[in-house]
Amino acid sequence: MIRLAFFDMDGTLCAPRFYVNGKMVVGMSDEAWLAFCEKNGADTYKFCKPVPAVVEYAEELKKHGAVLYVLSSAQSEAEKAAKVKFTESNCRGMFREVITVAGDDEKLPVMQKIAAEAGILASDVELVEDTYRLVLQATVAGMNATHVSHLYCKRD
Ligand SMILES: [Mg+2]
Repeated sequence: MIRLAFFDMDGTLCAPRFYVNGKMVVGMSDEAWLAFCEKNGADTYKFCKPVPAVVEYAEELKKHGAVLYVLSSAQSEAEKAAKVKFTESNCRGMFREVITVAGDDEKLPVMQKIAAEAGILASDVELVEDTYRLVLQATVAGMNATHVSHLYCKRD
């Protein structure tokens, strides 16, 4: 049974879309992104959309008693504030917390730490992600891992 689940944001819970110089873009360079977040603050994710298949899956896990976290990387306080606002606006009450890390490689240790503190076995933890490398990392660590693509497929 899944007791603890972590959801990535960009490309998983959230379809990225940003309004830059009069047009919608899917993203930008690291440098431009930092400036964009500084300029837009908590509204940086204003045009991003929640991904229905992922939100439904989160609801299902929560209904069965899992504690859910958003686990995402953020390069600035502004980006973190935007991720918190997106989550509160689109998934109110669903996630215990929005956790941000500086880089993807911090995700697995963060999940392991939270699981250990809660006394939850890796086999009862799940990661939902679009970065396949991280899906594999979680699998190798004994966790359940779902690549977001599976949530768009018919269930077995
Ligand atoms: Mg992602």
